[in-house]
Amino acid sequence: MKVLVPVKRVVDYNVKVRVKSDQTGVDIANVKMSMNPFDEIAVEEATRLKEAGKVTEIIAISCGVLQSQETLRTAMAIGADRAILVETDVELQPLAVAKLLKAIADKEQPQLIILGKQAIDDDANQTGQMLAALLDWPQATYASKIEVDGEGDAARVKVTREVDGGLEVVSLTLPAIVTTDLRLNEPRYVTLPNIMKAKKKTLDNVKPADLGVDVTPRLKTLKVTEPAKRSAGIIVPDVATLVAKLKTEAKVI
Ligand code: AMP
Repeated sequence: MKVLVPVKRVVDYNVKVRVKSDQTGVDIANVKMSMNPFDEIAVEEATRLKEAGKVTEIIAISCGVLQSQETLRTAMAIGADRAILVETDVELQPLAVAKLLKAIADKEQPQLIILGKQAIDDDANQTGQMLAALLDWPQATYASKIEVDGEGDAARVKVTREVDGGLEVVSLTLPAIVTTDLRLNEPRYVTLPNIMKAKKKTLDNVKPADLGVDVTPRLKTLKVTEPAKRSAGIIVPDVATLVAKLKTEAKVI
């Protein structure tokens, strides 16, 4: 079974982002960039399925600027066999990414595409769902467990999903789309030998025009603002004072 794993280069989750002074977006100049954490979980899961003998090939794909090659090398150091960069300087929105991924899926004919549930930079949570619609494939979002049942044409994928107040288990025919949630797995640390091996793996470079996709943005960001600052709290000496303040000042009890 061939698996595609789309991985996005985003601002590292440890970085405290700053909004640009003209409020058009966040400042990403000289900021540490990393693989979107949910995508790292997706690459790890595909790698575990390969180690279990369920998957034969893992292809990592990233759409974006040339530096996304670093993200693809990381994916290959975790376990992807080869990678494709869809290179563009245009700011990509989820629909454009979904169209690019569809074009690659049409060419590569994978049985499974595992995406992150959302990218932590724009928090869109749209690409997997849009891709499922464009391909007309079944989808299971927010996966906390993925199992491949059966072989060949009879193979199905069983996905446990985290839903409000419990778990839902669904069985999908293949080909299918799955998006990862945080508790699916804990990605391995990439080791130096694997980083070295990843440098030798194939990384193809294509442009959106090669795939016949128009990536012109459809949405315009009007304004980005910082969250309102919280006012400082106070420390009360005992419970009686707290209760009194909640009654007389906050008037919540
Ligand atoms: P989003 O819909 O933007 O929240 O992203 C959901 C998922 O789609 C991510 O976790 C990635 O797996 C994939 N994705 C989004 N943007 C890109 C991109 N530029 N390149 C590759 N994969 C992407």
